[in-house]
Amino acid sequence: MKKVVKFGGSSLADAGQFMKAGAIVRSDESRVYVVPSAPGKRNSSDIKITDLLYECYELAVKGQNFYEPFLAVKDRYNEIIQGLSLNLSLSEAFDAIEDKLLHDPEKDYTASRGEYLNGLIMAEYLGCEFIDAADVIFFDASGSFDAGMTYPVLSARLEEAGRAVVPGFYGLGKDGKIRTFSRGGSDITGSIVASACKAGVYENWTDVSGLLMADPHIIPGPALISSITYRELRELAYMGASVMHEDAIFPVKNAGIPINIRNTNSPQDPGTWIVGNTARRSKYTITGIAGRKDFCSIVIAKDLMHSQPDFYRKVAQCFEENNIPIEHLPSGIDTMTVIVHESKFIEHEQEVLSRIAASVEPESLEVEAGIALIAVVGRSMKSQTGTAAKIFQALADSRINVRMIDQGASELNIIVGVLNEDFDRAVRAIYNSFVN
Ligand code: ASP
Repeated sequence: MKKVVKFGGSSLADAGQFMKAGAIVRSDESRVYVVPSAPGKRNSSDIKITDLLYECYELAVKGQNFYEPFLAVKDRYNEIIQGLSLNLSLSEAFDAIEDKLLHDPEKDYTASRGEYLNGLIMAEYLGCEFIDAADVIFFDASGSFDAGMTYPVLSARLEEAGRAVVPGFYGLGKDGKIRTFSRGGSDITGSIVASACKAGVYENWTDVSGLLMADPHIIPGPALISSITYRELRELAYMGASVMHEDAIFPVKNAGIPINIRNTNSPQDPGTWIVGNTARRSKYTITGIAGRKDFCSIVIAKDLMHSQPDFYRKVAQCFEENNIPIEHLPSGIDTMTVIVHESKFIEHEQEVLSRIAASVEPESLEVEAGIALIAVVGRSMKSQTGTAAKIFQALADSRINVRMIDQGASELNIIVGVLNEDFDRAVRAIYNSFVN
């Protein structure tokens, strides 16, 4: 079984971190392909290499002097090389980047060099082959990842290499220029490499021992999630739980490869398994809680709306025309409620409301802002009774008024809407009722 190991920026921030990553790779022969990010922050006041490179580009494109941030970039890499006692010089590579910045600055190219240079160091440190992502990962003319072109080339190249390093975050565009994924995109590269080599596991090494059941800013020291399905993860991530790059799920999900989130600073921890299916139940009935503030509800009331089969469509159209995605649609017999993001709604508010008024002639139309949505997610919910009761009891005990409830037929999650100001208290109440 082959494993693909991706190391995030904090896992490769300096020589000490590199040594931990190297030991992890060497300790398991099946860890064959390594995908590094660019060096991240060494402490909270530090600057990521990628950010320094973007700064170089911004200055260069205005014809200004980029010496300071560029020197900082070079110093960081040289320190890592020295710390690892490697016999490697990146001066030629630095000169090429400088030359490009001076004569033809390109944003994606510049940013991608963070991973490129780190990949060169990692390959030298592990004594294995370096595969430039520009030779094996391709983007189409619209700038999206080109799976059809990438997989045959990448699979063949990985097959012929032994242990190899493929830098994350970038590939080659249709126009022959370097393209990057969006920020955090090395996660996507790792997932693509895992899918291309039909890996048994995609290990994503970071600085936490897995996914947390709730936001640690609200719940101090929340429990870790030991296993979660892709679908549960999508629900939590959509509601703001920060995990990996959103697009990194799909390549491995489609190939049926599990993801194991691991901690470079605590490699003995089992981490979190992200899987397609599992017979394992989560320890606490619910898998996790996530939420976001600042939604709006638009309550439309009209007697006998249910006898008009086109009523919902007409309302939905008023939002569609203004490019506002609908988040939830809880309904009553003569009322329907549309929940949308405040930030997406406010700008077109009056257009939408007047269109609804003209299109379905409601008896009343009420708008309320400042609503927070909380998603309580758990695959074990559908086989257990009393989950909803527990959630609402916890909220009632904390005297929190529930403004909206939505539970999908899949019973994977229960969404509750509360006022923004009750959000933190509501999350705590629900968490404590299941975990503590
Ligand atoms: N270095 C890039 C970033 O900072 C990509 C990554 O780390 O995944 O966004």
